Amino acid sequence: MKSIAIVGAGQSGLQLALALLGRGYEVTVISNRTAEQIRTGKVMSSQCMFDASLQTERELGLNWWDTDCPPIDGFGVTVTNPEEIGTKLIDWVAPLDGFAQSVDQRVKMPAWMAEFERRGGNLVIKDAGVEELEEYSQTYDLVVIAAGKGDIVKLFERDEVRSVFASPQRALALTYVTGVEPRSPLPGITFTAIPGIGEWVMFPGLTTTGPCEIMTFFGIPGGPLDCWGDVKTPEQHLEKTMSLLKTYVPWGAERCRNAQLTDDNGFLSGRVTPTVRKPVVRLPSGRFILGMADVVVVGDPINGQGSNNAAKCATSYLHSILALGEQQPTQEWMQQTFEQFWNYADYVVSWSAAMLRPPEPHVLNLLGAAGQLPSVAHAIVNGFNHPPSLFPWWLDAKECEKFIALKASEMELTA
Ligand SMILES: Cc1cc2nc3c(=O)[nH]c(=O)nc-3n(C[C@H](O)[C@H](O)[C@H](O)COP(=O)(O)OP(=O)(O)OC[C@H]3O[C@@H](n4cnc5c(N)ncnc54)[C@H](O)[C@@H]3O)c2cc1C
Repeated sequence: MKSIAIVGAGQSGLQLALALLGRGYEVTVISNRTAEQIRTGKVMSSQCMFDASLQTERELGLNWWDTDCPPIDGFGVTVTNPEEIGTKLIDWVAPLDGFAQSVDQRVKMPAWMAEFERRGGNLVIKDAGVEELEEYSQTYDLVVIAAGKGDIVKLFERDEVRSVFASPQRALALTYVTGVEPRSPLPGITFTAIPGIGEWVMFPGLTTTGPCEIMTFFGIPGGPLDCWGDVKTPEQHLEKTMSLLKTYVPWGAERCRNAQLTDDNGFLSGRVTPTVRKPVVRLPSGRFILGMADVVVVGDPINGQGSNNAAKCATSYLHSILALGEQQPTQEWMQQTFEQFWNYADYVVSWSAAMLRPPEPHVLNLLGAAGQLPSVAHAIVNGFNHPPSLFPWWLDAKECEKFIALKASEMELTA
């Protein structure tokens, strides 16, 4: 296999494209938006990426924002008291072993698109449909669809067995702001669970106007945080955000009291149905195409794994492509390429599902224990970097009890 067409110039598509270029492949990326349209468009994500995913970028020489983007060194978890709105029940902070980072995709993708062309890639601006896919599949040895949440994704059949939910589990509201006081101690992620209502998450990032803080409200459908339908303007969005903060997270409102939107496109609301799709599509001609990242495994951003999955999926697909060598990709190879990634993504999907459901008593116990046992807190927050490390104890009450007991005895031994 020598030539590859990738539809979608996002995290996974560009990362795979740049990696393949470096290995001597002929690569075309098809994007339905120009770099300028992406740069001046609406925010798309909060895109917090953890160390292992950032490492995939470092290896490709694409980590250009390490100086400008504020590092995320710490991770704070708060659970509010369901008996008394606006007060804390659980509250602790733990360090990440390697820093995380959030570079606005409006900054990163245009820069990577330019780099892709500079390194010899062929960038085509086109909204690819079935007609174009037929054309690419005839011209290129392999066609990969990395179109995120684009319409074209509907070509990929939902996998009823692997998909956990049939409808969105959270109403999302994303806001990019400046003027926020950094979290102390350990600036970084603030994850606040508001039982029965939703979550509020905030962390520093880098946007088109410079450093900022990026916050997201996750509202359980039908609840008080599911309230964005009538918000039309940037001003209304910020106003609603501040009013929810004052009610549910007053200490967050205090940190954000001088918050201003970074720009008129620095907000977004919507919802995602977490879905796993079958990875291979047979075109009318009988030729096959392969889906990647959000196209095949899209999750609710509650545990901030989508961009991380995209980076890891691109790396996994790269290894499968390299292993194929001179041979031509078959339908079986495409399925196997996905299964290789699924060995990892399965954990992320199960963990996300558990976070979207009302927490099991053992998870509340775990979060409480983390306040007393720094090694438990450390394991939880660093699990965001590599979710399989959270198993089996995140899902299994008995294993969770054993895990906490083990960490407690280790602490006693070192005391
Ligand atoms: C509110 C919110 C917050 C999030 N926060 C985080 C977070 O903190 N951490 C995290 O890891 N993930 C987060 N995510 C998820 C993350 O942004 C995505 O999972 C990730 O960007 C997916 O990468 P991708 O390569 O699959 O697709 P994308 O990055 O979405 O790229 C797809 C590209 O394909 C293009 N395209 C679509 N259709 C076509 C077509 N027909 N022809 C040509 N081009 C096309 C699109 O314009 C787009 O540029 C968040 C998502 C949301 C909605």
